[in-house]
Amino acid sequence: MKNKRMKIFLSFLSLFAAFTLSAQTKELLAGNTTPTYNELIDFYKEQASKDAGIQLYAMGSSDHGKPIYLCVLGALLDSTETFNKARNSTTILINNGIHPGEPCGVNASMQLVHDYSQMSMKQRKDYPVIAIIPGYNVGGMHNRSSYSRANQEGPEEYGFRGNSRNFDLNRDFIKMDSENAKTFAKLFHGLDPDIFVDTHTSNGADYQYTMTYIAPTYDRMPEATRKLMYEELIPHLGKQLSKEWNYDLAPYVSMNASRLDGGIYAFNTLPRYAMGYGELFHTLSFTTETHMLKPFEDRVRSTYGFLVETIDWMLDNSFSLERARQDAKEAYKQLTVLPSNYKLDTLRKDSILFKGYEWVDKPSEITKQSRLFYDRSKPFSNYIPHYFSYSANDTVDVPAYYVVGAQEKKTIEALALNNVEMIETSADTMLFAKAFKIIDFSNGTKPYEGHYLHTNTQLEIIEIKAHLKKGDWIIPMKQDKAYYILSVLDPRMEDSFFAWNFYDSYLQQKEYFSPYVFEEKAVELLKRNPELEKEFRQKQKEDADFNESRWEQLYFIYKRSPYYEPTHNVLPIYFVK
Ligand SMILES: [Zn+2]
Repeated sequence: MKNKRMKIFLSFLSLFAAFTLSAQTKELLAGNTTPTYNELIDFYKEQASKDAGIQLYAMGSSDHGKPIYLCVLGALLDSTETFNKARNSTTILINNGIHPGEPCGVNASMQLVHDYSQMSMKQRKDYPVIAIIPGYNVGGMHNRSSYSRANQEGPEEYGFRGNSRNFDLNRDFIKMDSENAKTFAKLFHGLDPDIFVDTHTSNGADYQYTMTYIAPTYDRMPEATRKLMYEELIPHLGKQLSKEWNYDLAPYVSMNASRLDGGIYAFNTLPRYAMGYGELFHTLSFTTETHMLKPFEDRVRSTYGFLVETIDWMLDNSFSLERARQDAKEAYKQLTVLPSNYKLDTLRKDSILFKGYEWVDKPSEITKQSRLFYDRSKPFSNYIPHYFSYSANDTVDVPAYYVVGAQEKKTIEALALNNVEMIETSADTMLFAKAFKIIDFSNGTKPYEGHYLHTNTQLEIIEIKAHLKKGDWIIPMKQDKAYYILSVLDPRMEDSFFAWNFYDSYLQQKEYFSPYVFEEKAVELLKRNPELEKEFRQKQKEDADFNESRWEQLYFIYKRSPYYEPTHNVLPIYFVK
């Protein structure tokens, strides 16, 4: 049965040779070229025009202006029914061209569409829904050259990494600066894919593998999806890619030291990245990374093989896949404490049989310094350290619900785009709640993706009497999107909205005092509050700098008085346990 279903995909030996392609398509798919955005969309339009099971939808805008398209294989005539089918059955989403200089998946997906067009109704019957974004970074795909990937073998011409506004879209899934990210959220939740593959080409070391993958951080995954991903899907893909396609599969090579004998470490798949974002919704997510120094045709073929084998696995495992995702969602609904702030645990290493090339250090002709040289005539297969484990360094309490003020439009828009269930308050009301008061954080000195990302956030949870106004939003946590909500609303999370500067206006004090006027008030305040006076005198005794600074001493009292603004450093995200 399985062999029969696979026949259509495996019926060719050389990727682009076995099909009778039109002259134009043949040219698009041949060896060392990748289509322009217009050629790509024309191809999809043509395929969709000939086949009712292949539909192409303009899903929304990109920063460039032209729409982002989604092609669905196994579509129904009515678009609403197509999306219902995708949500209610087993679905894979493939995203291509987020980095247009890495277009292996762009070409491989065209081949998938072509293959599907050749399948009979009977063959298609039990097939998962295959949803393909032909080219996500529309602006970058229009900015073509042959030079922006200095260390890459082909294709002859390709697009640029930055989008129309020079954003790296593979850092934009939470902060959503681009129209692309907003469109992506819409289509992602429209499909609720079970598996998500984001296709790329690597940078970095030289080694034998053509295809490597990034999977979600092992220790951060809920048990149900982790078991399926790491114990079944990944071993299956490794076995099949080697057996059927002659490509060995290896984890993505992030070097732990300057040379490979120092080992490799697993990538921390934060939610800002495509696959980290998919993980927040318990979608089994991969980044495929083909090796930049392998011929383009091989990179395309291995990407294609990875996609075909993933789809094939879905055919036999759709029940356990749906079940594992459901279990993961349920686990998050019951969660009371979320482990957070995962860091690579360098004490817990494994080893991995790695197929590399021997390297030597030799003098550089240019700099006269020593340079690294990989000798491809000397392949090796050795065990090297594999740093695989991440450990949580903190925890975050899971509330019963959050409350976000209606004035926080960027937050509300992002939550709404991610289909988060929210209840609008119907009248002004008062609520005893908890709030986050920011104590400290770090910033880079240069912008990162248009932001000064906050890291190492320290905070205090305070009790407040919140005045909710009509139109504010209550966000209950017993819902499928619980992991996403925690990851964006709790400011301690690495990719929270706070970290991405959504709440910076609350970090500035708006009113101060004139010391010469406040002197008398301070005396009065201490007189009325013996506890405060005790604390103040203690500090004077213990802290010499404090004792020398008139301003610091008055500010100490001011901050503990009713004159100090209650909103300073307090985020307008409230929660109730
Ligand atoms: Zn990339």
